[in-house]
Amino acid sequence: MGIIGNPVMHTKSPVIHNGGYKKLGLDAVYVPFETDDPATFLELAALLDMKGFSVTVPFKNDIIPLMDGLTESVRSIGACNTVTRIDGKWIGENSDYTGFIKPLINDFGSLEGKNVTLIGAGGAAKACLYALKEEGANVLVVNRTVEKAKDLAIQFDTEYVGLSKENLNKITEYSDVIVQTTNVGMHPLEDINPLEFFPLTGKEYLYDIIYTPEVTCFLKAGVDKGCKTLNGWPMLLEQGYRQFKLFTGMDFPVED
Ligand code: NAP
Repeated sequence: MGIIGNPVMHTKSPVIHNGGYKKLGLDAVYVPFETDDPATFLELAALLDMKGFSVTVPFKNDIIPLMDGLTESVRSIGACNTVTRIDGKWIGENSDYTGFIKPLINDFGSLEGKNVTLIGAGGAAKACLYALKEEGANVLVVNRTVEKAKDLAIQFDTEYVGLSKENLNKITEYSDVIVQTTNVGMHPLEDINPLEFFPLTGKEYLYDIIYTPEVTCFLKAGVDKGCKTLNGWPMLLEQGYRQFKLFTGMDFPVED
């Protein structure tokens, strides 16, 4: 098993997967493959008889036309982060959306009818929006480039606004949960809170899918006001556990 991307050598995924193989005593290994050509990599993966592999930036879209089959989630999200080999056929899956939603439901509870602001309209935001809509949340997409927010909102039949103080009232309407999916808060933007203009009351639940740093400026603002918060580490683990199951047929050995 392995992961393709470029760059990819920094990824934490081998630590997760190889840790699981070791605990279960499996004769398996998970390796990062830095490539600039996913089609050529597929030929290598077939030669190596790989059971599957993970896909990260910039190949989550490029890998899709190379697949023999796709899950409904990949079709809706338009991104594939997991490839499995079933009866010699390459099948594209998406484990980012389950990875995102499971920790949120575990900690926050049901999202049915909740008003959620989703900051960002990139690849990760799409998977998050798909999951939030599946759970019955009402979602407002908020993005710096408003056209991208609009495109996403139209696709998922939801509302959108630009990331600006002028839209404070709208964001306030959708503030049971606020999900942050942009790069803002991560190096080199670690000192910036993309929602700095929003007056938190302490009742909002804040979820930042960034996991380095553990507490972004966005989450710190929430902690200071007494909000409940969640970072992106459980999401990374959960999407890895789902892939582990798809690759090995076994549950990841999570410690109690
Ligand atoms: P992406 O497709 O490149 O999207 C980037 C998003 O960030 C866009 O909405 C972009 O807005 C916004 N943005 C970038 N710079 C900005 C700025 N200076 N001010 C305001 N908005 C800005 O990236 P992605 O793949 O969605 O990933 C986004 C984040 O999610 C990354 O930090 C990544 O580490 C994290 N992530 C975490 C997990 C996990 O397992 N925890 C999984 C996947 C991704 P514009 O449209 O205006 O450019």
